[in-house]
Amino acid sequence: ATPTALMVGTGRGAQLGILIKGPEVLETTRTADTVVLDKTGTVTTGRMTLLATHTTATTTEAEVLRLAGALEHASEHPVARAVAAGAAGRVGALPAPEDFTSVPGLGVRGVVEGHTVVVGREQLLAEWEITLPPALETAKARAESAGRTVIAVAWDGEARAVLEVADAVKATSREAIRRLRALGLTPILLTGDNKAVAASVAAEVGIPPENVIAEVLPEGKTDVIKHLQAEGRSVAMVGDGVNDAAALAQADLGLAMGTGTDAAIEAGDLTLVRGDLRAAADAIRLSRRTLGTIR
Ligand code: ADP
Ligand code: MG
Repeated sequence: ATPTALMVGTGRGAQLGILIKGPEVLETTRTADTVVLDKTGTVTTGRMTLLATHTTATTTEAEVLRLAGALEHASEHPVARAVAAGAAGRVGALPAPEDFTSVPGLGVRGVVEGHTVVVGREQLLAEWEITLPPALETAKARAESAGRTVIAVAWDGEARAVLEVADAVKATSREAIRRLRALGLTPILLTGDNKAVAASVAAEVGIPPENVIAEVLPEGKTDVIKHLQAEGRSVAMVGDGVNDAAALAQADLGLAMGTGTDAAIEAGDLTLVRGDLRAAADAIRLSRRTLGTIR
């Protein structure tokens, strides 16, 4: 392409809310045939709400929200924000944790008021040989089949509760995916969240069930991209989280949500300024129009 065409394309991108790191990016944008979409914060709003708390017989909801809320208050994850906000709303001021560790894609662990607290996926509790009692297991299964994200709360070596959180699909996601498919791209939903939640989001936005990859740890996201590339695909990845940064860098084309984390924006080749997935389809169309004539 002529430098003028590339400059015009880059300028037109800015008008559409697409920030392009360099003119050469338009070439990989044009050739992408597969688009991997992170779920939370990309296809969904990422603004989660705490919907319900299920406790064991010997635990009160107030205790659970106080300890889990205190720990999650120190985390930036959308699930953590929902738990901290829900807890603060119900039990008031939360104590400051004495110790805090974030385990990406799994949850958080720390010390609150002398208790060793773990909040996150069941898999995280399993690392400390903590299992859910049958009543909590049942509550979890029921909530997951309703498309909710379920996280467990344990302290001092014992599971105490499960929390239900959920967020909404963005109003623009379904149309964006329809447009990406019309441009000939295969959409794939990739998430660390559970299979039931992933399936319900996919159905809502028109991604076929066989194109859903769930329960993937952050390192695993990069492997999924590599695997698709090994099949000979040219892979675009859209993401917003710290957890998506490595996968965005590995992808042939990384598209970061402008509403997401700095880590994602730095790793991406392109930023969708308004966090609207339809701009991903605009970027593909723009690059094809800018470069199409010279091929
Ligand atoms: P996604 O790929 O959809 O953006 P993540 O990989 O960030 O999701 O997280 C995967 C799952 O790990 C979440 O759905 C949640 O169950 C759990 N998780 C991650 N961070 C936290 C946290 N701070 N507190 C509780 N659960 C968490
Ligand atoms: Mg995300």
